[in-house]
Amino acid sequence: MEPKDLYTSWVETDLNAIEKNIRLITHITKSDVMAVVKANGYGHGAMPVAESALRGGATWCAVSQVEEAIILRQSGLNCPLLVLGFTPSARLSEAIEQDISLTFWNEEQIQEIMISAQAMGRKSKVHIRVDTGMGLLGAQPEAVEDIVRLTHGLEGVQLEGMFTNFARADEPEMDTTNQQFKTFLDLLSRLESAGLRPPIVHAANSAATLVNPETHLDLVRIGSAMYGFHSSPECLLPEGFFPALAWKTQLSQIKMLPPGRGLSYGHVYITQRNEHIGTLPIGYADGLRSIEGNKVLIRGREVPVVGRVSMDQCLVQLDSVPEAEVGDEVVLIGRQGEMQISAEEVAQRWNAINYEVTCGISARVPRLYI
Ligand SMILES: *Cc1c(COP(=O)(O)O)cnc(C)c1O
Repeated sequence: MEPKDLYTSWVETDLNAIEKNIRLITHITKSDVMAVVKANGYGHGAMPVAESALRGGATWCAVSQVEEAIILRQSGLNCPLLVLGFTPSARLSEAIEQDISLTFWNEEQIQEIMISAQAMGRKSKVHIRVDTGMGLLGAQPEAVEDIVRLTHGLEGVQLEGMFTNFARADEPEMDTTNQQFKTFLDLLSRLESAGLRPPIVHAANSAATLVNPETHLDLVRIGSAMYGFHSSPECLLPEGFFPALAWKTQLSQIKMLPPGRGLSYGHVYITQRNEHIGTLPIGYADGLRSIEGNKVLIRGREVPVVGRVSMDQCLVQLDSVPEAEVGDEVVLIGRQGEMQISAEEVAQRWNAINYEVTCGISARVPRLYI
């Protein structure tokens, strides 16, 4: 059976591409590789992506939320696993039980972690997150030495790592990254002098890994490059990386309509002549944004989406593919014949970034793995 026999729309993730993209990363760094599979692996499917990344040479995985980490553990993921973001207190014991490494950035958090770990007679692995200039999350660099000193003295806590995150590593402007990195290295050398260096120190995301080898330190955190995404229009992947995701649906109805017919909600599109109009069983509830200018591939040709995208359907103008039939495969992202629509191209139409496009493909769209 083909996917279209079973599904109205679906995502196909090429796990070989994930594995190969990670292997390419292991060739450009000697540092350990952490596969970032948050947000359901940027929409690609977290568990299969994690397993493929490990096959490709990654030794760590990371997610944003403890909920995501627990699901991965329940699915049988055994590798070192880090939660990069905030963990609610009532989840701490579950996380410690599952041997999930946690991120913290102040003394109250580490006290809470210690209490949970001690109550269980366990040790909790933790990474301190340092805000060197992103402003999203983390301890101020001046505060870190005291927090680390406190952490070293606590039973039930094992300080496993320290990390920061770059705000502008995907831009040609390098000053911000250099400044952030200098702040981080200065802190690191103060900790080293005090005999307090955490074992695993990390900073680089995909862009920094590709552009700035000095930032690799003990481990690099790879998201976008693993999925075959360019970090930004100004920070392109080198040769050899391939996008792993395709997003597809099928034609559910075709009709010939006379001139003057208003189509879909609001009748914002009105037929000008006799027009072939096709219906696709996909809408904004699947993650297709209701924005003018959407395009899809049918029979190897680019076809415009016309009228408003509704929750579950949208329409395409089929005059350039009069031979199209109900059941034809329709590509929203990916290849068909000689043609390709990339996540980057869709992002440009939506005034968004590639990450947002695939993360926005909703949970009701099944993920299939090839
Ligand atoms: C998402 C994330 C990454 C991965 O970033 P990419 O640009 O996709 O490689 C790395 N570090 C942190 C802290 C993240 O949240």
